[in-house]
Amino acid sequence: MTRTGTGQRTSTGNPAGRTAAARTRRVRETARELLGFETFRPGQERAMQSVVSGRDTLAVLPSGAGKSAVYQVAGRLADGPVLVVSPLIALQRDQVARLEEVEVLAGSAAQLNSALSAGDQRAALEGLADGTVRYLFLAPEQLAKPEVVEAVAATEPALFVVDEAHCVSAWGHDFRPDYLRLGAVVEQLGHPTVLALTATAAPPVRAEIVERLGMRDPEVVVAGFDRPEIRLEVEQHADAHTKHEAVLDRVLGEVGGGRVPGIVYSATRKGTAELAGELGDRGLRARAYHAGLKKSEREDVQRAFMTDELDVVVATTAFGMGIDKPDTRFVVHAEPADSLDSYYQEIGRAGRDGRPALALLVYRQEDLGVRKFFAAGIPPEEELQQVAGLVAAAEAAGIEDGVDVKQLREETGRAATPLARDLNLLEQVSAVVLDEEGAAHPAEGAPDPGAAAAAARELAEHHERVDQSRVEMMRGYAETTDCRRQFLLGYFGEQLEHPCGNCDNCSAGLSQEQPVGDGADTPFPPQTPVEHAEWGPGVVMRVEDDRVVVLFEEVGYKTLALAAVTENDLLTRRG
Ligand SMILES: [Zn+2]
Repeated sequence: MTRTGTGQRTSTGNPAGRTAAARTRRVRETARELLGFETFRPGQERAMQSVVSGRDTLAVLPSGAGKSAVYQVAGRLADGPVLVVSPLIALQRDQVARLEEVEVLAGSAAQLNSALSAGDQRAALEGLADGTVRYLFLAPEQLAKPEVVEAVAATEPALFVVDEAHCVSAWGHDFRPDYLRLGAVVEQLGHPTVLALTATAAPPVRAEIVERLGMRDPEVVVAGFDRPEIRLEVEQHADAHTKHEAVLDRVLGEVGGGRVPGIVYSATRKGTAELAGELGDRGLRARAYHAGLKKSEREDVQRAFMTDELDVVVATTAFGMGIDKPDTRFVVHAEPADSLDSYYQEIGRAGRDGRPALALLVYRQEDLGVRKFFAAGIPPEEELQQVAGLVAAAEAAGIEDGVDVKQLREETGRAATPLARDLNLLEQVSAVVLDEEGAAHPAEGAPDPGAAAAAARELAEHHERVDQSRVEMMRGYAETTDCRRQFLLGYFGEQLEHPCGNCDNCSAGLSQEQPVGDGADTPFPPQTPVEHAEWGPGVVMRVEDDRVVVLFEEVGYKTLALAAVTENDLLTRRG
């Protein structure tokens, strides 16, 4: 194995081939041998090629686009073990199972997480060391343990895969503080080739992934997000009863027309049971699904859905991850999603076979904006300061085990949920470090409790603002009278030149041709970095004839009237 001064592998000795042409051939052969691929889905091959050439790669592929195939194939051609960091144990299990289905790779994958016995954890690391394990799936908190990093580093991993990479970004809708340490781990491992995978495309999230993972000169592969086969519709109703009836009617209509199966998303567990019951009363094969059901029942619902025994599953968003049923014909939302990121991911489960499908949102005005980022509210600064102070005091008193939520409860008399939130916030501002057991220690060079509390409070407000702005974008989608697909793709920074013709507004003749195209005739085309006098730096996400949507780092999404912008010089270009 050879590495250049920057730690990147050179093409000399690259087992996938010396030249780009040779590697192209090897990637195609391997994809055929492993997965029976004759053709690739958009973005897949480019991402594989980039990884096997030894280049750090960020692949933004919509869910269902076959992200795991990228590391399966590239990993097979890599010059050493492959580490796959994945946020959920269930997801890891699913990924290992998928590898086991590939004959050539069977037996070469293992998991490393806290759900395993100490013996199994040791066996996984030993397997990695002796070469029997090629793909190791692990939770990010495993990489907080120096002994694990050391053991893994000794095996000289060739490829470091970060799945659901948007979890590293405070901008992402799914931020996980555990992901923040991955950049440092990459360095500790001698900077193997990094492959970051995500389905979240918002440009600020991309930039943050690259920065936080310390990716060098990365190739960024973005597959198109448009799913023209999915028809987009929205229905607004004034009261809860008519909304409820509309959901039932529309589902009955789809099923009656033979367009099955489908998924109905409801925000609450109670809602899923009620809707499933009423659809059942009307003669449909309907089951409810949510995280509160027994595991055996959840598995039975999944199995029934996959084997065409159901017309519809009524579910909370717990249903979907790891479920791939390409002939799903409709996704109906009985409440808006918390963001367009989530909404897009959820409706993307329909029509993966490329045939027509329906994504329908049925909502009331009141349904928007009820969700709060912090269920328990933004913590007061005094509370954060007290928690930071207790963590520091324990360290000063020589208590090596740190402070956990249970102790904090005893000392403060507060409930566990807000205390866990406080610790997470303090961790995000580098005031405390949480260990494997969830106990808090002061971070190296931590600010004093007062400064830490101020920073954590500010961060909490930032989360809340950004989250609120996401809800506003969901509202914008629900209420736009223009082409919904243009709105949706615009949110992801992708400009659709003409109205789509496959949404309710297009069908009603409401959609206007936007005079933007390549954006040459507007002062702020999409993706322009801008600065606002009050809101600071941001990026233009969407341009319409009279307004512009900007994603600001501090305050999230804002819609500005272009007339006001030009009149008052509100925006300037950056860089
Ligand atoms: Zn349209």
